[in-house]
Amino acid sequence: MKKMNRRSFIKLSTVAMAAASGTVYTSKAKWTEAASKTPPSITRSFSVCNSCGNRCNIIAFKRQGRLWRISGNPRDNKTGGKICARGHAYAAMVYDRYRLGTPLKRMSNGFEPISWEQAYEEISDKLKDILRKNGPEAIFWSEYSKPISNFYGARFMAALGSPNWTTHASTCFAARNVGFNHTLGGLPTGDYENTKYVVFIGRAPADGIGTSILKGLPMAKQKGAKVVAVDPRLSYSANSLANEWMAIRPGTDLALLLAWIHIMIKENLYDREFVSKHTVGFSDLEAAVSQYTPAWAAGITGLPEEQISRVVKEMAAAKPAAFVEPGWHAAYGSNYRNSTQTARAIAIINALLGNLNQPGGLCFYSGANLGSLDSSRHQAPPNSPYKRVDGAGVAGKYPLALGSGLHHLLPGLAKEGKFKAGFFYSINPARTVPDREYVVSGYKNLELSVVIDWQFSETAEHVADYILPESHPLERDGIVEPISARMPQVSMQSKAIEPVHPGARGLDRIVTELAQAMGFGRYFDFKLDDLNKAMLFPLKLFPVHLQQRGPQVAGGAWDYGQTMFRTPSGKVELASGTFAEHGFSKVPIWESPLIEPSSGEFRIIHGHQAYLTHSQTINNPYLVSIAKDYHGEAIWINSKKARELGIADGSDVIVSAKGYENKVRCKVTERIHPEAIFVPAGYGSFASKLERGFELGISMNDFVPHASEDISGHAMMQEAVVSIRKA
Ligand code: SF4
Repeated sequence: MKKMNRRSFIKLSTVAMAAASGTVYTSKAKWTEAASKTPPSITRSFSVCNSCGNRCNIIAFKRQGRLWRISGNPRDNKTGGKICARGHAYAAMVYDRYRLGTPLKRMSNGFEPISWEQAYEEISDKLKDILRKNGPEAIFWSEYSKPISNFYGARFMAALGSPNWTTHASTCFAARNVGFNHTLGGLPTGDYENTKYVVFIGRAPADGIGTSILKGLPMAKQKGAKVVAVDPRLSYSANSLANEWMAIRPGTDLALLLAWIHIMIKENLYDREFVSKHTVGFSDLEAAVSQYTPAWAAGITGLPEEQISRVVKEMAAAKPAAFVEPGWHAAYGSNYRNSTQTARAIAIINALLGNLNQPGGLCFYSGANLGSLDSSRHQAPPNSPYKRVDGAGVAGKYPLALGSGLHHLLPGLAKEGKFKAGFFYSINPARTVPDREYVVSGYKNLELSVVIDWQFSETAEHVADYILPESHPLERDGIVEPISARMPQVSMQSKAIEPVHPGARGLDRIVTELAQAMGFGRYFDFKLDDLNKAMLFPLKLFPVHLQQRGPQVAGGAWDYGQTMFRTPSGKVELASGTFAEHGFSKVPIWESPLIEPSSGEFRIIHGHQAYLTHSQTINNPYLVSIAKDYHGEAIWINSKKARELGIADGSDVIVSAKGYENKVRCKVTERIHPEAIFVPAGYGSFASKLERGFELGISMNDFVPHASEDISGHAMMQEAVVSIRKA
């Protein structure tokens, strides 16, 4: 074999590189000369990841005109530049063959491409007809909440005169927000970096990714902070981050929290000064929790009495740099009959710890003060004079529900004929709302259903009359969005690449053009850029600053110690007058879950995995490969229960409930409570056009009955039991 020396290696490398670039250089000198004149082929753009609600700032790198890779932006004060696998894999979908590129209309034999003009004309004709015959109350908008649709979707509904703008909140975090709003006046964020003790109730921040948590918590742990995971499952997050696992019975977190409040008051472990200065309702709380002893809680939760008492004492000893984490969907987002009062109990414990706006506690960081369109130049649509049809905020129905509505109720209302037309923006209720049959058959009753998205979904395939293709978020500018942090910022999704499908359009353009076709163009007489300039005006910034430099500081640094609470009393409401006014218990009291598993049944609990977001990433080639390689679709069952049922690890089982059954792979583990099975979220796709994830795993939503909780009106997604047998 001919030996390669340094000279021949350089020569070969030069030729190889030249060949790769399509040009042949006859000497290294010529190549060096040419290379020095070649403009850098890698460019970068600043944008925001759209793959989940965290909205992490990202940098999109482009090489030779094509999106090359995505990384986190270290200038994002909330995340510090951390992004997750879904954020990295986001790039894979831009050039994906499954993207939607042209408007589609459902015909008897499937979808047919149509022009935008035809789509606007037919949709607006139908809407006008519905407005004439049924009024604006018969139309709704439903979205996976995003800053751009929060503006355009809500304004479009207002322009039509409809009160029915909704987001996904009632199947996600609604109970948490209602509970915190009526106790603390808002939702604080953990000061992870400086905490000494943190308790997660069901939340798994490294699975259902919380990038800001993963930025701060490891720093606190290095300084000796203790992390406790209260969860029926030892999640991957708890396994890697927690010092202690409290393997609680599912649905009984409220009992644990009531016992903790009892112990804190009885043993004088709370912050007396904070309570006397900044709270109302202490005596009501004290009387209500006097019965909730550690022994009582041990009987309900299945936790050792010693552990219940010890953990709260440890937490109190670390106050105010200690907190119970506010969660997201977690164990009490929209899961149980007792979830709203569970959220109130968590907010109350934090107040008793005196940790609000204290180092290492829970903080109400400030956001940017953004401007808005000048209404003297750009006419705003009036507020709808009608009441919401889903009953959110309506006396006698769900008066305390969030203003973003109860989207899980919409299919039933469509079936009753109360809705005639619906818009679905970047949301997939056919897969993400409990009871597939209820959802699909309800929505099929609509006279007009319009899906706006950049990829297919179950809702698009099984419900939509029209599908309007949205351009990919990396192909267009977005709306200015605030980042709440100790140093508040603003950021903006900005265009990184030329559109791969020029036929797709941004939501701002779609809504504006549809409004024009409806004759409501006067409410949309501005461009997105005008809106962004108006929003940035008070900050003396322009969109170009965010496009060229990424996130920008938007106000002075926030500091510890503020004690203003946006409640009716201006204080922390340990007892809520508003709850009492509407017939709900003013202090949290024990209420068991609505459904208890009987012998041979298991309660379904669910949660995210680091590589999937709901159903929206189920067709991402990289993420689905990870899921398949690691059998992410497997449900978890306790080893002892599996032995009793003769189920082996890795085998298939049949899960059944409500006359419905499905087969799925099973993971047998000590890491789950014997009463529960864990069903990972995002699987069980029944959209045949999402080929990669089609029919991979199961969805808990096929087993969850349609129901609503009384206070915040959420969907009670863990009030469901199933049976399991060997396949
Ligand atoms: S957590 Fe992951 S998916 Fe969510 S916005 Fe951040 S990078 Fe994207």
